[in-house]
Amino acid sequence: MSANHHHPALLATDPELASFIAAEESLQAQTLRLIPSENYVSAAVLEASGTVLQNKYSEGYPGRRYYEGQQNIDRVEALAVERAKGLFGVDHANVQPYSGSPANLAVYLAFAKPGDTVMGMALPMGGHLTHGWGVSATGSWFRGVQYGVRADTGLIDYDAVRDLALAERPKIMFCGGTALPRTIDFAAFASIAREAGSVLVADVAHIAGLIAGGAHPSPVDHVDVVSTTTHKTLRGPRGAMLMCREEHAKAIDKAVFPGLQGGPHNQTTAGIAVALHEAAQPAFTTYAHAVVANAKALAEALLSRGFDLVSGGTDNHLILMDLTSRGVAGKVAAKALDRAGIVVNYNTVPFDPRKPFDPSGIRIGTPSLTSRGLAPEHMPVVAEWISRAVDAAAKGDEPALAVVRAEVADLMAAHPAPGLPLA
Ligand SMILES: *Cc1c(COP(=O)(O)O)cnc(C)c1O
Repeated sequence: MSANHHHPALLATDPELASFIAAEESLQAQTLRLIPSENYVSAAVLEASGTVLQNKYSEGYPGRRYYEGQQNIDRVEALAVERAKGLFGVDHANVQPYSGSPANLAVYLAFAKPGDTVMGMALPMGGHLTHGWGVSATGSWFRGVQYGVRADTGLIDYDAVRDLALAERPKIMFCGGTALPRTIDFAAFASIAREAGSVLVADVAHIAGLIAGGAHPSPVDHVDVVSTTTHKTLRGPRGAMLMCREEHAKAIDKAVFPGLQGGPHNQTTAGIAVALHEAAQPAFTTYAHAVVANAKALAEALLSRGFDLVSGGTDNHLILMDLTSRGVAGKVAAKALDRAGIVVNYNTVPFDPRKPFDPSGIRIGTPSLTSRGLAPEHMPVVAEWISRAVDAAAKGDEPALAVVRAEVADLMAAHPAPGLPLA
């Protein structure tokens, strides 16, 4: 049976587009997806995200809308909000940001004026564009100052963070990032932010699912605002949330709407509500801990194959590999791995001597493979495939990549992905 049959209306209306989606379903089924910001949503999340809620305009918040006919939409959004508050233990949650970047922009709008100093981790050190990096609007409309990691340990240098914060007195300070393999010390950031008089934002986009599942400490008792995407380890649809204490609730809500956005994407809100419900179940706690156990097992297996890992390993879902000693650039390796059915992204490593578009490292993570039920016992073979593919990349050995691809597809076939049709 053709995978196209899973979307009969789409196939009838637009076979060309339907074929692209069917091909993507096959690709996601057959490959080992190691991009740490990606995952597989459940069939329930997928269904909620593709509904007639899409047809409705709902500017405003539940009970205070600028459009009529909100009887059902209000219940959907209120449920998502209640679930976010319960899961993360916060006073207030806004589930309307379209994605992580607009959520962070709303934080700037709530707490700073253009030209104010803001502080975040440098992008090449593992921070995010929206933490005041130059090419981002946040770095051109605000004055971004940046901290990094120590060259000798690969760990955040909290003494340097404190020195910079006291010298610069930023309005907003971000902690969190996109390539941080280690636990974030939210209490340390909180004491620095207090001294510097900064609003502290924990951007937990990558680790929200680990926090919800008890596999990473929560920032909630330490920071002013928690910003997160909903589609990474949290395993919801593409979207975001801002959470805070009651004292900041008004400022955050006003910044999201009408400050930055118009109508919320109600079908996404519904998907977020379902994902939050799933994240409150015992099985999600098991998943979150398994993500970390898999990452630690994979890091061990990679180290034993001689790979260099930034900071020497991982505490969470993510591993940053420096391929310099293997004689392959990150991009060459990433593209070879892709041809071997292993999907990663090339990434800068701290103090990278190479350019951002052609850096020394690759970034990998275990959320997706954990969602498919892979366990620590599978990590040695994953490390072996990565090693064989990287060596094949160095030698230009295409047949070796094809062999790995077939082996990967075999294991993946034995571990069906949530939300995907069995083609
Ligand atoms: C992914 C990510 C974002 C941005 O999310 P988008 O949904 O891609 O806009 C922001 N901050 C951090 C730390 C992230 O990892």
